[in-house]
Amino acid sequence: MVLVKIEVAKDTYLVGIGVSPGISIGEICLLNNRATVDEVAIEANEVDGEIERFRWAIRQAKEQLQEIKETVSSKPHLREHLYILDTHLLILDDEMLIQGVETAIRGELNSEGALKGVLTQLRQIFDNIEDEYLRERRSDVDAVGERLMRILTGEHEQPLANIANKSLIVAHDLSPAETMQMDRGKILGFITDKGGRTSHTAILARSMEIPAVVGLETITSLVYDRLPVIIDGSTGVVVLNPTEETFKEYLARKQSYEYLEKELASFRELPAETTDHFQIALRGNLEMAREFPLAAKHGIDGIGLYRTEFLYLGRSEPPTEEEQLEVYREILEEMQPHPVTIRTLDIGGDKFVPELNLADEANPAMGLRAIRFSLREGKLFRIQLRAILRASVHGQVRIMFPMISGVAEIRTIKRILQEVEEGLLQEGVAFDRNIEIGIMIETPSAVLIAPFLAKEVDFFSIGTNDLIQYCLAVDRGNEHVAYLYDPMHPAILRALKLICDAAGQAGIKVSMCGEMAGEPLYALVLIGLGLTELSMNPACVPRVKRVLRQVSRQDGVELLEKLFALQTGKEVSACIDREMRQRLPEIFGRSLI
Ligand code: PEP
Ligand code: MG
Repeated sequence: MVLVKIEVAKDTYLVGIGVSPGISIGEICLLNNRATVDEVAIEANEVDGEIERFRWAIRQAKEQLQEIKETVSSKPHLREHLYILDTHLLILDDEMLIQGVETAIRGELNSEGALKGVLTQLRQIFDNIEDEYLRERRSDVDAVGERLMRILTGEHEQPLANIANKSLIVAHDLSPAETMQMDRGKILGFITDKGGRTSHTAILARSMEIPAVVGLETITSLVYDRLPVIIDGSTGVVVLNPTEETFKEYLARKQSYEYLEKELASFRELPAETTDHFQIALRGNLEMAREFPLAAKHGIDGIGLYRTEFLYLGRSEPPTEEEQLEVYREILEEMQPHPVTIRTLDIGGDKFVPELNLADEANPAMGLRAIRFSLREGKLFRIQLRAILRASVHGQVRIMFPMISGVAEIRTIKRILQEVEEGLLQEGVAFDRNIEIGIMIETPSAVLIAPFLAKEVDFFSIGTNDLIQYCLAVDRGNEHVAYLYDPMHPAILRALKLICDAAGQAGIKVSMCGEMAGEPLYALVLIGLGLTELSMNPACVPRVKRVLRQVSRQDGVELLEKLFALQTGKEVSACIDREMRQRLPEIFGRSLI
């Protein structure tokens, strides 16, 4: 075979999705981790043998995964990710996959062709899921598919463990198993054709603190081994074959990024306090208990949003009371003495949980979702409440209810909670009798009646992801209207003010846990509004803290006054941008934040 070296022009810039921050400069190691698939028709008398071959491949794949599990178990920094391998083992038992392939083989197709067809169907199912996190779980199916394909075709994985020099890994996709096997010291970065912000490559790269850019679509066809490359995992920029000048520029950026990281780490133990001594609790949003060690590393003041829906995924039955109790207990104990805000099941709408057999709805975002679902499925709701109450003796728990649209709802919830409490009392089961209860403010109706709602609960938490969607009538997952999804729309500012004022007057706490809370540029506006707690992706905490420690609450109030005179989101954003650059040029004057 003649290998033709593709010419890569100097300074070829590509932009993907930056999923793990940091700048890496080095040479490429191209992993050829895609099996070549031959689809071949077979004879009727070959069907049984072919099915046996497919079942053998499944057994082989399981053995491989078990072996990797054993290796990984001995690496403490990777132990928390063992669940990914378990997920892959579960996929290998999936009826849809096995039956689908065997049916296609019975239609007289070889195993590779049959598997390819079934994988395409499964991918389509995942692609139609609106929730980004769940959609990304498609990568698990892909990883298992690739493994089976390699076994069937006899092609071998190029183990990351055998990489000779320190390199930036370029691959079509990286299966979590491959990533976990690697020699961490030899990997300078990851660059992949596939993947998104919440893909496992992204999650793992972040937890290993290795810069990564994913979703470049065709990078594997553009590059070759030892090609010089630069990646910026914050902006998603990849520069192939950089010139001397670009190299120097990025080296300087890399140094200042690393300097900034060190400086940010020094904020870990410092309070989030403004120059006029206004204290803000910076808490973490948590999707999976397993992510906890990473979250805790960033110096969070507790969990402001624990999205429990992830407990209900990937299983045929909802989690039992005991299982939930175990998970909640662990997080509560780890987070002591800080509070953990457990949000009750928030599914439906864009959060699809196939296992719960939700009915098809013409307008799911306005349908049977979140608290509406819990109130209809009373048994499930009570089990979750019992688990949370029982866990409350292990730490400081707060309960939060999603997507409240009226006072009647919260009264019903409180009645149910009281019944659950009485049940536990009768059984002699201990629980904290003074648990704070709060609601997410995500609907326009909740904003408009915030003063009434504030009398019913101990805290509000503003879910801007949904609030913006419902206030502006812009589907949060629809790319065609994404240009209208504007956190700085004057209507949103006014909604936020109504909520904060209502909370302030009632003397209850007001937090924000939508993505907006983690944006350093908005930090001053948010404290100006009177928010006392912000809950965000834990990695955002040091950056937001850094801003807060250099501004005063009064600055925020004054900035808000200016913003309220503006009529478009663009004007509001431009004003904030100007103001923040002026106040903190060392942060906002550079693109590194
Ligand atoms: C929100 O809507 O802002 C929120 C935090 O909830 P979720 O993103 O889980 O809907
Ligand atoms: Mg929401």
